[in-house]
Amino acid sequence: MKVYLDNNATTMVDPLVVEVMQPFFSEIYGNPNSLHKFGTASHPALSKAIDQMYKALNARDSDDIVFTSCATESNNWVLKSIFADHIVSGDKNHIITTEVEHPSVLAACRALEKEGAKVTYLPVNSEGVVEPHVVRSFITDKTALVSVMWASNETGMINPIKEIGEICKEKGVLFHSDAVQAIGKIPVDLQDVHVDFVSMSAHKFHGPKGVGALYIRNSQPLSPLLHGGEHMGGRRSGTLNVPYIVAMGKAIELATTNIEEKMASIRAKRDRLEDALLELSDTFVVGNRKNRTPNTILISIRGVEGEGMLWDLNNGQIGASTGSACASEDLQANTVMLAIGADSELAHTGIRLSLSRFTTDSEIDYTIAHFKKAVARLRAISSSFAKVGPTPGGESKECELHHH
Ligand SMILES: *Cc1c(COP(=O)(O)O)cnc(C)c1O
Repeated sequence: MKVYLDNNATTMVDPLVVEVMQPFFSEIYGNPNSLHKFGTASHPALSKAIDQMYKALNARDSDDIVFTSCATESNNWVLKSIFADHIVSGDKNHIITTEVEHPSVLAACRALEKEGAKVTYLPVNSEGVVEPHVVRSFITDKTALVSVMWASNETGMINPIKEIGEICKEKGVLFHSDAVQAIGKIPVDLQDVHVDFVSMSAHKFHGPKGVGALYIRNSQPLSPLLHGGEHMGGRRSGTLNVPYIVAMGKAIELATTNIEEKMASIRAKRDRLEDALLELSDTFVVGNRKNRTPNTILISIRGVEGEGMLWDLNNGQIGASTGSACASEDLQANTVMLAIGADSELAHTGIRLSLSRFTTDSEIDYTIAHFKKAVARLRAISSSFAKVGPTPGGESKECELHHH
């Protein structure tokens, strides 16, 4: 059996999505900007995809949703254009973000610091959550933008976006959220929260890789990142990627229709897996389940190096991760685990298991059995675990990891 439990890194494209995008490669291939019938033939499908996006997110007609090449582009676009519009050619100098953002936010912020921006990287609490009062305490009259991810790719923890949005509104500061890990996993209603910019990516909800979008509240100004043929109302130039846009519309519709039911089913499998793994001694799961995306587990197993565990899981045909795929090539400690206060030993033992609506019960059974055997095997050969030894009567629980 092969089990894919790395859905926070990317997902399988739903066969229904593949089906709707297919005609737009070799049959309906005209440039949608062309005035002839080859071009206009794609218009109904493009309009449908746009409608599917607005409906899935409950966006208003006055809002813009602009297709991009990925969420990395959407995140860079917001940060770099806010910098250009409000810091270079305005009177602000400050951006607030968090220590646990995706690299596409963190690296963009570091690049802007080199160009003169002041950036505050907010800490998270021991549950991995950004606290609204902390956001409030760092906002000054020089703050141009607050950027806080909706849910974490590594821990699945969900931030209080509604509360943070209210604070930004009250203070008159623009608010951006990277919602890549929220859309399709929890309900995202853009009329219920005050957020100016929202980044998303199709391949995290069973669409293809290489297409994303940026939501812009109330069509407000944001300089384009790509200048050219004035596509998408001049917001994002570049010939529209028709098949992928059509696919993204279908994927978001499938992911958000009856989301509560779909999630209840994933949550039940996730909880069963988590309960079973927590039967092992000295294991810890980051963050309270109730405030976590229903597909994610970040588990630490004392005495078991994350990389060794991944290797062993991989030998059993189970695909998991030690955390962010972008950082998983090196043997570094999980930076998000360090940020929530794990000691460095624990931060080297994080294994992220992320399910999808295609995960089956028998895959969960297989994973539980293989995972337990792997832990026993690796603990038997682990010197550090032998030295410390299992805590006598050691309690395994869903725990908060405390600062040292
Ligand atoms: C995957 C991911 C991204 C990047 O999305 P791409 O479309 O692959 O660029 C950004 N933010 C988060 C939270 C992610 O999980």
